[in-house]
This record gives sequence, structure tokens and C-alpha cells, in this order.
Amino acid sequence: MKSLVQYILERIRPLPNNTTGLIVFDIDDTILKVDPKLMSVYKNEPGKSEKVLSTEEFAKDPDAADPNKKSWFDFRDFRDPIKVYQSIMAGTPLIKNLRIMDDYIEAGYDFCFLTARGCEETIKTALDDFLRVRNRNDKSLRKLGDTFKKTLSHAINDDQKNYPGKSDSERKANVLKYLCKKYDKVVFVDDDTKNVTAARNLRIPNLRVIKAWEE
Ligand SMILES: [Mg+2]
Repeated sequence: MKSLVQYILERIRPLPNNTTGLIVFDIDDTILKVDPKLMSVYKNEPGKSEKVLSTEEFAKDPDAADPNKKSWFDFRDFRDPIKVYQSIMAGTPLIKNLRIMDDYIEAGYDFCFLTARGCEETIKTALDDFLRVRNRNDKSLRKLGDTFKKTLSHAINDDQKNYPGKSDSERKANVLKYLCKKYDKVVFVDDDTKNVTAARNLRIPNLRVIKAWEE
């Protein structure tokens, strides 16, 4: 498995003719950092008062990995389309990870997102407005346009849809399996170790998994 350092030292080679590529990005703490004042996860451990967690604290909370404790966590902010849109537009871009996105898009890869959030349709609109690709040579910015594959983008906790899997990591892994059948090369970038491990454990030959930079 290649480390991030090896990745940075290598140049991403342009896709050969007749080869398709897709880069799949997690959103929170991978593409952007949400202002914790706008979006929080609420933890209600039985017998304790409600605790407010940032998305980062939630990702690292050991109880969040336990499917039996799923009911402890309340994601009400993530179900509110206005807050969801604002949280993305006001998010702090994580530049090092976005440079990875730029490099792959410049190499001919398509883009989609794969997030544990809900509100899939709102996120498609918000990311379309938020994201820009940087041209490697003249550093100009442009919208993703057709490179952004909205039909392949998934928010696995969308209330209108049903994504199979016992945990968020398993649901994400199931989506990746499907995407790997549609493209010759798939690259998945996520900050959450649980998701990275679940994706690597699929052992799909055309799937490359990159642990996102945290800062
Ligand atoms: Mg994340």
C-alpha cells in the first residue's frame, strides 16, 4: 500500500487512452472543515447530559464506531438543508487534499463525493457551488462542470434512500464496490481511519485508498 508521502513524491500520470478514472472524496475533514458552530453532532449517552461534538470529535469518538450505540448520536443539523448548504459554503477548504483532487482531475479523472451525511441533493448543489479545480500550469481556478459526476455521488445517510450496511464504513465500502465496477481506476480519499481500513479491506485491485491530510 502506498503511503501519502510516496504519493506526493510521485506525479500522477495522465490516464491512458480508453482508461477511465474516478476520484471519490469524503467531505467533512477531507474537502473542508465545517465551522463547529454551524454543524454539530449531539451525543446522548444514557444517564448523561447531551454532549456537543464537532465532526472531527465524532469521527474519533470510540462509541461512534459501535453499531449498538448508533441511537446515542443525533445528526439533526445534518438533516436541515439550509444548514447543510451553509456549512459547505462557509467551510474552510483543506488545501492539501484539494491539491490531490486537482492533480487527479488534471490527469483525466472524474470526481464524485461519498459522505456519511444525509441531504444528498443539497450537497450536490452546494459542492458544485463550492468546489474549484486549479490548473496546474497557470493556477487559474474553474468549476468542475461535467467532471463532477452527481449521479455517482452519495450521501449514505440520506433519509430518502437506503444504503445497505451495518455501519457508515460498511455503507461507504459498498458504494466503492459499485463504483469500482464502473471505472477502470478508482481513488478514494477519506480522513476517517475506519473508512480507510474498510475500503482497503475490500482488496479491490483497481481501488486506491488515500488517507486524507488532517490539516
Ligand atoms: Mg470525514
